[in-house]
Amino acid sequence: MDKSFSDVKAVLFDFGGTLDADGLTWRQQFLPIYRRLGYKWSEKEFNPLFYHADDTLTERTLKTVSYDRTIRMQVALLLKKARQMTPQAVEAVARAYLKNSRAHLKRNKPLLQRLKKKYKLGIVSNFYGNLPEILKGEGYHPLFGAVADSARVGSIKPSPDIFFYVLNKLGVRPEESVFVGDSMKRDMRGAKGMGMRHIWVVGKNYRKDPPCCPGDKVIASVMELEKILL
Ligand SMILES: [Mg+2]
Repeated sequence: MDKSFSDVKAVLFDFGGTLDADGLTWRQQFLPIYRRLGYKWSEKEFNPLFYHADDTLTERTLKTVSYDRTIRMQVALLLKKARQMTPQAVEAVARAYLKNSRAHLKRNKPLLQRLKKKYKLGIVSNFYGNLPEILKGEGYHPLFGAVADSARVGSIKPSPDIFFYVLNKLGVRPEESVFVGDSMKRDMRGAKGMGMRHIWVVGKNYRKDPPCCPGDKVIASVMELEKILL
């Protein structure tokens, strides 16, 4: 346990890139999978395809769509835009993505269960409206006292409103909380703006980037919260 966190009552998490991966956004997780399966896109070619799919899902507001279907929709939209859509291709990419994502969710779960005994836990995520449904499907729902999905709350990080939604539900003040996330702009700056402490999840390879504030904890994965918060 790190003494500078001894007064913390609640731990708030980002979802994508934080709980389902170690500091990699969905875009950064998808690209190597496509490449492994033989797609030769450069990052410059891939990014607009990914964002097209992401924007389309955001516009649709998914509500009760499962995790499997969400990922298949994202892949199908991307491959359709690239004029390379086949059911087999969608299946191969989605399968590889979900396998990796679920391995992380499974690995992180016992730690979250231990954290839950000591802290109130919440999620603040820019998502498609179906994050509660996905958490339920992955057995994550009982871990979190409050979940804010931007498409449901009507506010997106780094806006304070979406953070306050969760803090109010948990009955804690910003200064009694710590935010754990992978995005400098949405998570770290958002939490800083609220007066919340923040821990940056950066994966194995990005430790050289300076943190949001001097002295911030920078971790490779949420597994490192064990020694910081327990
Ligand atoms: Mg994220």
